[in-house]
Amino acid sequence: MSDTSVLRIEGLNKSFGENYVLKDASLTLKRGELKVLIGPSGGGKSTLLQCMNFLIPPDTGRFWLNGQEVDPSDKKSLYSYRQKVGMIFQDFNLFDHLSAVENVRIALVKVLGMSKKDAMDRAMAELERVGMAGRANLYPAQLSGGQKQRVSIARALAMDPEVLLLDEPTSALDPELIGEVLTVIRDLSQAGMTMIMATHQITFSSQLADEFIFMQQGRIIEQGSPKELLAAGVESRTQEFCSKIN
Ligand code: ADP
Ligand code: MG
Repeated sequence: MSDTSVLRIEGLNKSFGENYVLKDASLTLKRGELKVLIGPSGGGKSTLLQCMNFLIPPDTGRFWLNGQEVDPSDKKSLYSYRQKVGMIFQDFNLFDHLSAVENVRIALVKVLGMSKKDAMDRAMAELERVGMAGRANLYPAQLSGGQKQRVSIARALAMDPEVLLLDEPTSALDPELIGEVLTVIRDLSQAGMTMIMATHQITFSSQLADEFIFMQQGRIIEQGSPKELLAAGVESRTQEFCSKIN
C-alpha cells in the first residue's frame, strides 16, 4: 500500500433485511485528495459514507487509517478511528438548543476532554475559518442554511479529523446559499484536507476533484478523473447517468 494512503476500505458489504445496499465496495483516499461520489438516488452513496464512519455498522469490510487496520470489535480502536473521520450531513445535524459556538465546543469538552476555555478558543478559531465567528452566539434557528452548514463544518474540523466525509452538503440549501458552502469546501481541499463527498454539484466538483466515483445499485461501477468519467465513462451506465445530468 502506498504510504500516502490515509483511508482505505476493502470489501464493504451492507444489507438492510433483504435489501442488499452495498456490494463489495473498496476505495482508497490518498492524503489531500478529494473524491466525489456520484450516481442515482438510492445507489448507496449515503450508506457507504455512513458505514465509513460506523454510523451504520457494515456487515463486512476492512478499514485502514494511515496504514493501521481498525478493529471494530475493539472499542478503543473504533473510537479513535471515528474521531479521525468527520462527517458532514445534508441536513446539518446541529443541536437546535445550542448556539453556533456551543455546537462546535460541546464535543471538544465532552469527547476530547478539553477545558472549557481551550474548547472555546478552538471553537472560535474554527468558526473564524468558515467565516462564522461574527455569528458565534446565534442559534441554528437564527442562521441561514448555508450558515448552518458552515457551523457544522467548523464542528467537524474542531475534532482535527484526518478525513472528512460529506454527504450532499449543499442539497438542502437554496440555490443562492450553495456558493458559500462550496467555497469553504474548496478552501479546505486547497489546504490539503482529505475528503470524499457525495454531491450533485457536478460542474463545481469536476473543477476540484481528483477522482469521481460512480455508484449504482450498491456497487462502485467506475472510478476515474472527472474528465475521463464525465466525457466518456467506459461503462455505459456511467455514460447514461452523466448524459442526464450534464
Ligand atoms: P443514495 O445516498 O445514493 O441515494 P442510500 O445509501 O441512501 O442511497 O440508499 C441506498 C438503499 O438503501 C436504498 O434502497 C435505501 O432505501 C436503502 N436504505 C438506506 N438506509 C436504510 C435504512 N436505514 N434502512 C433500510 N434501508 C435503507
Ligand atoms: Mg444519499
